[in-house]
Amino acid sequence: MTKICSKCKEEKNIGKYDLNPSNKKDGHRSDCKECVKTRCKEYSKIHKREIAERKRKYWEKHRKEIAEKRKEYRQDHKEEMAEKRRKYLKINKEKVANRRKNYSQSNKEEMAEAWAKYYQGHKEERLKYSMQYKKKEVQKLKNNYIKAMICQKSELKHKDISPVMVDLYRSLILIYREIKINKQGVTL
Ligand SMILES: [Zn+2]
Repeated sequence: MTKICSKCKEEKNIGKYDLNPSNKKDGHRSDCKECVKTRCKEYSKIHKREIAERKRKYWEKHRKEIAEKRKEYRQDHKEEMAEKRRKYLKINKEKVANRRKNYSQSNKEEMAEAWAKYYQGHKEERLKYSMQYKKKEVQKLKNNYIKAMICQKSELKHKDISPVMVDLYRSLILIYREIKINKQGVTL
């Protein structure tokens, strides 16, 4: 069975028309579904603000009712909603866990690398600093102090130690200290 749409004048199958029980002739609307749809679209385009305002007013008027209905829905679909949430969380949990794992792994490597770089630089800096400090310290060593050290390690007396010997012994201390620092991996 077909009929001609009152709007677009096209001949269409009766299934292409919405039901309308008040139409005694065939129980369907006179205009086709497509025309109704087009008209609805056009109407909502033109009356956008009006519709929004109507919706807002309706919501305000029936706020309690809507809230109550939503509450009822939540209570009636408690298990269903919980299940949905569980599924959602499960998927997300894996995603989040994976993301976190990947992040911490890449971060771990980066951190380790950065730390190694920092430590190496710092180590060298620290050793260089301590070497310079010790050099200064040795250079500051008083002649009498060096003489006392020579006396301790030999059977010489203070008066037997020449200034050349003092300088040599000072150099010897320096050499030993530099060797000690070198063992810790510092290029001099
Ligand atoms: Zn039509």
